Amino acid sequence: MKYKAYSLSNYLTLPQIEKISAEKKSSIEVVGSVLPFKVSNYVTDELIDWDDYENDPIFHLTFPQKEMLLPHHFNKMAEALVQSSDKQFHKNISNEIRLELNPHPAGQREQNIPKVEGLELLGTQHKYRETVLFFPSSGQTCHSYCTFCFRWPQFVGMDELKFAMKETELLIKYLEIHHEATDILFTGGDPMIMSFKVFEKYIEPFLYDYKKTNIQTIRIGTKSLAFWPYKFLTDDDADDFLRLFEKIISKGINLAIMAHFSHPRELATAAVQKAIKRIRNTGAQIRTQSPILRHINDKAEIWSEMWRNQVNFNCIPYYMFVPRDTGAQHYFAVTLLEAWEIWRKAYQNVSGVCRTVRGPSMSCSPGKVQFLGVGEVNHEKVFVLRFLQGRNPDWVARPFFAKYDENAIWMSDLKPAFGEKFFFEDEEETLFGEKYIDRETSNYE
Ligand SMILES: *Cc1c(COP(=O)(O)O)cnc(C)c1O
Ligand code: SF4
Repeated sequence: MKYKAYSLSNYLTLPQIEKISAEKKSSIEVVGSVLPFKVSNYVTDELIDWDDYENDPIFHLTFPQKEMLLPHHFNKMAEALVQSSDKQFHKNISNEIRLELNPHPAGQREQNIPKVEGLELLGTQHKYRETVLFFPSSGQTCHSYCTFCFRWPQFVGMDELKFAMKETELLIKYLEIHHEATDILFTGGDPMIMSFKVFEKYIEPFLYDYKKTNIQTIRIGTKSLAFWPYKFLTDDDADDFLRLFEKIISKGINLAIMAHFSHPRELATAAVQKAIKRIRNTGAQIRTQSPILRHINDKAEIWSEMWRNQVNFNCIPYYMFVPRDTGAQHYFAVTLLEAWEIWRKAYQNVSGVCRTVRGPSMSCSPGKVQFLGVGEVNHEKVFVLRFLQGRNPDWVARPFFAKYDENAIWMSDLKPAFGEKFFFEDEEETLFGEKYIDRETSNYE
């Protein structure tokens, strides 16, 4: 595939470029200097409708938009680009701005990093009892970058290796001791960016040593079906991947491709449909998830259509997430109330086979919190919530209540409806010393 860096002429064909207004072009350059920008030629050639690019959801998903930066940040970067042609100067300015965009807060990651024999497993996270996340160091990039991605600090080089792991050796040791972990989830970036030779090295140890662990499901979090389905079709090593999937399954391990789809358009090409078929023919499951995003998928019909198509193509709808407060969240955020309205209209309009999906869900410090909707208790309107996942497994599936707040977009905006604290707060503080750190390491796992 053709990877295109920096200037639009590297990303797009001449006819495509000619369709973009001069103003848009310069704002892409300005915003793209601060937030990461990369797009595959499959996305530009097969997904985006250039005749209506300004309203195109996939254009919004992958191309930097002016409003993603606050006006003072935008102007600061634009001025820097005009003032000088010195790359280092541009970089200094963009780094200043990035630091004001709430990249990962200190201390957050350290909370979830497991240890074995006194050594930290820096490229892993074990937050929920059953599932360990693994960040292979070679999978820390993606085929294209989503404009809303909360992992942007790692793509612009602010977060690098700190968060990635080269080997699975220590991890297997850890899993041999921690039999409560039944699932290993490979994530990134996108693990499917790896060539087969590299990917295989991460998987093989699981196939030989899995009996000493209690791993029953291997999950792979990926957006490759939406951004580069040729990974499973025509890339040189496409067939090797499929054979490896079969091998995993032949060992009695469940393989789940956690596919990230944000819009039905991503399911509409012949390439993606064929790639889904090939993966399903190996015996692997495909489960789907996405955040709910303004400008991209903030309509109920989009979700119901997407879920229905996914089921028709033999995929299992899994999660709808609420986007985190990092990077350009002000541009993509919908309120919790809007998210729920969209959610329930979409959910009402599909049959039970699509209702395997759960959401809208916030991945925050205490756990994955689902916004169940608005209820009324003693003539008071309240938000009803519950944990889908909790740092303490005992928190899961207990309903709790927050004050009605039509402006709330994230857990940290919510106040307990009755009493001074949410039921889990004291315990969270004693367990972890901190509460309500808003960002976690997963948006689409
Ligand atoms: C979402 C998530 C998981 C997986 O949770 P499931 O509900 O089992 O899909 C695991 N670890 C972290 C940190 C997560 O955010
Ligand atoms: S959301 Fe996923 S696919 Fe998109 S840029 Fe982020 S890590 Fe990559």
